[in-house]
Amino acid sequence: MPAKNCKFIFVTGGVVSSLGKGITAASIALLLRQRGYRVTMQKLDPYLNVDPGTMSPFQHGEVYVTDDGTETDLDLGHYERFAGLKCNRNSNYTAGMIYSSVIAREREGGYLGKTVQVIPHITDEIKKAVLSQAEGDYDIAITEVGGTAGDIEGLPFLEALRELGQDLGPENVLCIHLTLIPYLSASGELKTKPSQQSASILRNIGIIPDILICRTERSLEEEHFRKLSMFCNVPRRAVIEEKDVENSIYEVPVELAAQKLDELILDKLGLPLNELDLEQWNAMLQRAIHPSGETVRIGVVGKYMGLQDSYKSIFEALRHGGISNDVPLDVTGIEAEELEGGNTELLQGLDGILVPGGFGYRGIEGKVEAVEFARENDIPFLGICLGMQCAVIETARNLAGMPEANSSEFSPDCSNPVIHLMEEQKTVTQKGGTMRLGLYPCVLLDGSKAIETYGQKNISERHRHRFEFNNEYREMLEENGLIYSGVSPDGTLVEIIERSDHPWFVACQFHPEFTSTPLEPNPLFNAFISAAKRRTRV
Ligand code: GLN
Repeated sequence: MPAKNCKFIFVTGGVVSSLGKGITAASIALLLRQRGYRVTMQKLDPYLNVDPGTMSPFQHGEVYVTDDGTETDLDLGHYERFAGLKCNRNSNYTAGMIYSSVIAREREGGYLGKTVQVIPHITDEIKKAVLSQAEGDYDIAITEVGGTAGDIEGLPFLEALRELGQDLGPENVLCIHLTLIPYLSASGELKTKPSQQSASILRNIGIIPDILICRTERSLEEEHFRKLSMFCNVPRRAVIEEKDVENSIYEVPVELAAQKLDELILDKLGLPLNELDLEQWNAMLQRAIHPSGETVRIGVVGKYMGLQDSYKSIFEALRHGGISNDVPLDVTGIEAEELEGGNTELLQGLDGILVPGGFGYRGIEGKVEAVEFARENDIPFLGICLGMQCAVIETARNLAGMPEANSSEFSPDCSNPVIHLMEEQKTVTQKGGTMRLGLYPCVLLDGSKAIETYGQKNISERHRHRFEFNNEYREMLEENGLIYSGVSPDGTLVEIIERSDHPWFVACQFHPEFTSTPLEPNPLFNAFISAAKRRTRV
C-alpha cells in the first residue's frame, strides 16, 4: 500500500503523440524533488505487448532497462535522467501485462462464478498497478499514460484513473493534460481548438484536467490563454505554455518553473511550498548551452538510425559526456550497412566512433568495418554490447587469422564462434524478459583504462544480452592485443575489453548509457568524450 499521505499526479496527453509527455512528467518530478519531496514515477502503456522488450526499436524507440532488469518504455530513461530517481518493475505497466494477469487469475479460478469484464476487473488491476509504484515512503507519485485521450485501447486506463480520483479523494489527485497548440503557417495562427476538443474528450470520460500544459513552437498570446482557460475549464493560471526549447531538453524544467508550474501543483495538492533548489541543475545547463571547448565529432554506427529514439539513451549519455567535458558535440548517426565493403569515407573526420547494442545480422559487417577503421586510425572507440561483440569479431578476423570468425547469433554453424550463446540461455524458448537483464557486478583489472575510468575496482552496470565472449578464444585474442579489463566476479564472463595498442579503445558487454544522467555522467561516456576531445586538440 502507498504511504497514507501520498498524493498522485496523472499526466495524460491529447491531440498527437510524441509531444514530450515523458520529458514534461520527468521535469515535474525534478522540480518536486528539488523542493524536497520524495517522488516516484510510472508509465502506463496501453498497447497489448506484455512488455516493450519484444518490440523493434523502429516501432517504439529503444527498450530501456532498469536496475532490477525490467525491459521498459524509453520514457523511464527520462524519469531517471531528469529526476535522478531509480525505476523498477512497478514503473511500467502495459495493457498486455494487465490483461494477462487478469486472464491468468481467471484460469486459476480467481473469479469463479463471475463474468470477467473490463470494468471492474481490468480497471481494478490498473488501479492496483498505479498504487503499486507508491509502495514505500513517497510523498508524490506521478503516473504518465501513454497515447492520446480518445484512443480506444487507452480507455480502461483513463477510466481507472477517474475511479482512483474518487477512491483517493480529489484533494489527493491532480490531473495534468498535455496538448499541442499547432501553428498554421498558411494563416499565420496558433490554433487552440484541438486542445479544447481533447479536454472535452477527457471530460466525457469523467476526468477534468486541473492543469493544461500546451506544447507549442511559438509563444501563446493572452487571448490564447483566455480561450484555453474558458473552453478547457481550467483557471487561467493553470494554463501553462511549454514552448520548444532552443538548446537543450534539460531547459524544460527551468522553463516550467519560470511559469510557477511546481508552485501551482503544490498549491493544488495542499502541500507546503518548500524552497526550490536548482543550483546544480542550472550550473549543468549553463555548461550544456555554452560549452567553451572545440566541437567534438562523434559517429554512432547503428542500424536503426532513421529514428533518433532508437538510441535515445546513447545520444543522451553522449550529451552528458559533452557537458562534463565542456565541449559542444556534433553527433552523426551512420547507417552501418552503408559502410559495407570498406566504404569508410563516412567515418572520415570523426574524433570518436561508437558502436551501440543491437540484435540480428543486418548491419553487422558495417559495424565490424567501423571497428577496424577506429582501431587502425587510433580513433577513440566505445563499443556497447553488440558493439563489444563486433570488436571481438574484428580482432579475430583481422588480427588473429580467423576470417570466418563470427557470433553464433548470426552464423550458428560458424567454425570460430568467438561470441556464443550464454549457457543459461540455451534452454530459454520464450521471448520477453528472458535475456540476461539488469545490474550485474564486474571487477576491473588494475592498470587498465577501465579502472582508471571508473576510479574503483568493483562496479555494477545494467545488461541486456543473450550472447557472450567465448572463453575458448581468450588466450588467442589476448595474443592479438585484447585486454580483458572487466570480468564477472567469478572471472568467467568478459564484461569489458580494451586494446593495449590504441589510445582509447574500450568496449563493454553492458549498457553504460542507461545509468548516465546529466548531473552524473556514466564514467565510460565521460572518458570516451575526453579521449575524443584530446584527439581534436592535437
Ligand atoms: N544481440 C546481442 C546479444 O544478445 C547483443 C545484445 C545487445 O546489444 N543488447 O548478446
